[in-house]
Amino acid sequence: MRSDKVDLKGLTLDQLQQFLVDLGTQKFRAKQIMKWIYQRGVTDFEQMTDQGKSLRQQLAGHAVISSWQPEAVEASSDGTRKYLFRLDDGESVEAVRIPMETEKDTLCISTQVGCAMQCQFCLTGTFGLTRNLTPAEIVNQVCGVLPDGPIANIVLMGMGEPLHNLDNVVTALKILCLDDGLGFGSRRITLSTSGLIPEMGKLSEMIKVNLAVSLNATTDEVRDRLMPINKKYPLKELMAACRDYPLGPRQKITFEYILIKGVNDSLADAKRLVKLLHGIKAKVNLIPFNEHASSEFKCPDEETIREFQTYLLDRQIVAMRRASKGQDISAACGQLKGKLDK
Ligand code: SAH
Ligand code: SF4
Repeated sequence: MRSDKVDLKGLTLDQLQQFLVDLGTQKFRAKQIMKWIYQRGVTDFEQMTDQGKSLRQQLAGHAVISSWQPEAVEASSDGTRKYLFRLDDGESVEAVRIPMETEKDTLCISTQVGCAMQCQFCLTGTFGLTRNLTPAEIVNQVCGVLPDGPIANIVLMGMGEPLHNLDNVVTALKILCLDDGLGFGSRRITLSTSGLIPEMGKLSEMIKVNLAVSLNATTDEVRDRLMPINKKYPLKELMAACRDYPLGPRQKITFEYILIKGVNDSLADAKRLVKLLHGIKAKVNLIPFNEHASSEFKCPDEETIREFQTYLLDRQIVAMRRASKGQDISAACGQLKGKLDK
């Protein structure tokens, strides 16, 4: 049976070294094996020709190397591609490749099947949490799209709340950053959270990646309604945690702010947002709400969006408007759902 074997795709370098020591072999082989797995895409131990025959047989007896091919790929008219991956238990997750003008693609990956946070505007949130993804399942989303072309940046903005699956997510990120593996610089990875304060602190101690916080409101009243997690971790505490978050010299926290018509898009909101961000090294991503059938919310008109952005820019706040790519294939923010609706 597959299941009693260790999946090497889910192991960090330390864990692979320990696994090899437990098998009675030397730990320096871990880096060689990592190269076979991540740089040459090998899944059959017999192909690892720099390892002795008996070790190859031993590995085959105790380990597997999982590998994913997308079950379906949908291409959007703007170049965005959505990949559907089937999991061993029949669930599925989605990842989205987003073309960037100046550089290689960005890949948006999922960290859970569904999400427990129940944000009112988010399609994923309406289904609740089915389960956490394992480290291998997170890593395999990246490996599974690489045959289509290189990835410059990874964003954890697909299905799920990454900090609600902290240990698996950090293990996966460590694997993605391995020099002898895929070698992603940790600054090329951005983790987005709805604001789980204790886990934000833990994350900063475990790995240095870019942090994005989904703010989406400027008063507790509105945020409580949009994002129930705000009742547990209200704005004042969230902003204090952001203020204390350790950052590198040129690093900033990204604040994502979905603009929803008549809910959080007024100039009074823009004004409060400027106040909230005071003293924080911040940039703002304005995301016009992606309308979907499960929500009554609407996207504001162009003029409202422009005024909101201009208000921030005039006050020296870096405020980008995030293009909602892949809308025609439901690949835009908050629209991923795997097969949860079946
Ligand atoms: N759970 C994490 C990461 C996944 S959600 C988080 O909430 O940050 C990724 C982003 O999609 C979040 O910033 C969220 O606010 C945004 N989002 C969710 N639904 C959306 C929608 N319908 N339109 C636009 N953005 C949406
Ligand atoms: Fe979960 Fe993020 Fe969607 Fe909220 S916005 S329900 S935290 S995936």
